[in-house]
Amino acid sequence: MEPLEIFPLPAFEDNYIWCLRRAGMLAVVDPGDAEPVVAHLDASSDRLCAILVTHHHRDHIGGIADLLKRDTVPVIAPAAENIAGTTRPVRGGDLIDLPQLGIDFEVLDVAGHTRGHVAYYRPGSLFCGDTLFACGCGRLFEGTAAQLHAALARIGVLPGLTLAHCAHEYTASGIRFARAVEPRNQAVVVRGAEVAKLRSANLPTVPFTIAGELATNPFLRCREPEVVASVAARLGHQPADELEVFTALRQWRDAF
Ligand SMILES: [Zn+2]
Repeated sequence: MEPLEIFPLPAFEDNYIWCLRRAGMLAVVDPGDAEPVVAHLDASSDRLCAILVTHHHRDHIGGIADLLKRDTVPVIAPAAENIAGTTRPVRGGDLIDLPQLGIDFEVLDVAGHTRGHVAYYRPGSLFCGDTLFACGCGRLFEGTAAQLHAALARIGVLPGLTLAHCAHEYTASGIRFARAVEPRNQAVVVRGAEVAKLRSANLPTVPFTIAGELATNPFLRCREPEVVASVAARLGHQPADELEVFTALRQWRDAF
């Protein structure tokens, strides 16, 4: 069997539409815009075989209708969100099969950024939408800090070499925040240099490993003494627990 290829199609300012391709069959994740996908299909002999959706924000679903006008394909999307065109509503714990690609995914419930946000996981790869970013996480639009904290904890226990494919190129800004939270974390400094190099060559910094996030992403490091100390200094008191650290980090990031 031909190897499975995974690559991004850039969309809008900083979105990535992730593509999974094998033997001329293509599945796309979060097609916020149909145009880059159609351009790829027109320029190749690839055929669209499935659309996967992580959550209902416009920059993740805006291209679905136009893609469905062109090809009738399954649309796999969170059951808890009302996404036009959905043929297979999914919840955490579901298994989805993409027979044309010869792969399946486990659906993870990662609510927080939105009420029904899901992620798609198979050994080696995670498609996490706007839940986890490099050195960051999604804003709280609909869910609670406790939900997003739990979602990131679930992602944080995946095997370290899992490649996380998020939907935005936010890494440089995430690194700046991580440096503010943990100025003494050398792993952040090293990663910052790598990211600057990639961005100056206009290359994506995504995907990235879970192990790299555990070493550098403050939102996954709420128990680290330097993170706790930075949050305590900002709050003016010692945070009571990990969730208070996480909540304060999320608010700090919003104001950063
Ligand atoms: Zn979003």
